[in-house]
Amino acid sequence: MNISANFDSGNIEVLDASNPQRVLLAMRRDLNSPHFQWFHFKVEGLNPGQRYGFSLTNAGQSSYANAWSGYQAVASYDQVNWFRVPSRFENDALDFAIEPSEAQVWFAYFEPYSRARHAWLIEQALSKSGAELFACGKSIEGRDIQLLRVSRNPDAQRNIWLIAQQHPGEHMAEWFMEGLIERLQQRGDAELDALLAQADLYLVPNMNPDGAFRGHLRTNAAGRDLNRAWQSASEADSPEVYFVQQQMRAVGVDLFLDIHGDEEIPHVFTAGCEGNPGYRPRLERLESQFRRLLVDMGAEFQTEFGYKRDEPGQANITLACNAVGEEFDCLAFTIEMPFKDHDDHPNPQTGWNGERSKQLGKDVLSVAAAMVGQLRE
Ligand SMILES: [Zn+2]
Repeated sequence: MNISANFDSGNIEVLDASNPQRVLLAMRRDLNSPHFQWFHFKVEGLNPGQRYGFSLTNAGQSSYANAWSGYQAVASYDQVNWFRVPSRFENDALDFAIEPSEAQVWFAYFEPYSRARHAWLIEQALSKSGAELFACGKSIEGRDIQLLRVSRNPDAQRNIWLIAQQHPGEHMAEWFMEGLIERLQQRGDAELDALLAQADLYLVPNMNPDGAFRGHLRTNAAGRDLNRAWQSASEADSPEVYFVQQQMRAVGVDLFLDIHGDEEIPHVFTAGCEGNPGYRPRLERLESQFRRLLVDMGAEFQTEFGYKRDEPGQANITLACNAVGEEFDCLAFTIEMPFKDHDDHPNPQTGWNGERSKQLGKDVLSVAAAMVGQLRE
């Protein structure tokens, strides 16, 4: 048996592979940061039909140790179809097993969104979705951070921003963006036409390419949590945020959505700006309308489960959602998708996955279309 993780978003360390019934593994920390939780590795040289077991021995010390209860690891034979494998969190370790039908298998924390697919997605956006490359930032290690603009009406009054995967292990975020970009390719989509008659879209499909490539959970190459850097972004240690903030200030923001994944909560949910100093009834109305529309249209979404609401004036303003909502006095949400499943509509075979994330991206465009006329008074 050979285990490797020396590839895009790979992360594993082999401690002891002598017992194929329980191969002992550990997740690596993010560079310059104590965080870890993401894993992604390939196992080759398996005998199909034989049982193999794997143990992530340091799961109990990871960033969100509570997240492993009720979590099932994902696996794939072809890096296209990903399925859940029975997993158990016990004695601080996450154990999972497989009787493979192929000689090689990949395991990951969530269906990975590769850098190669990112390049393809940008190409699709430019050639088929009517997007232009509005600007391009650089990560610390020199990877491109594309800012796409979709502008079909030169008189459009509103600017809608969506950014994804500030937290690099949250690969569902770029799957969401792929769904959204795919929908932009449709012709004769009345909702889309109405939206783009009134608004330009600004899209950053991947905010943290260094972290994603390195198999990080939480931070960029300097060990910065980008979603805690929105009051202190600098070209030196958080150029990814610095770039997007500069662009936002040049363009303006009327609606902002920051796309994430949550390790613990098995539901899709949003977090809003209720703790911002500038939070007003207008924003409260817009937030509840946004949530209600998503529920009413039958999207995989709910409003019962989520983070504890901030007390008035107590928001952590270093988060993108709060920082942008406050600076631009606009509707701003963090959208959270689960690593586990959306328990309102569970699928034990796949759990929450790339395809479901894509559909949510498409559905959110419908909500934006319904609300674009009310974003400003
Ligand atoms: Zn996140």
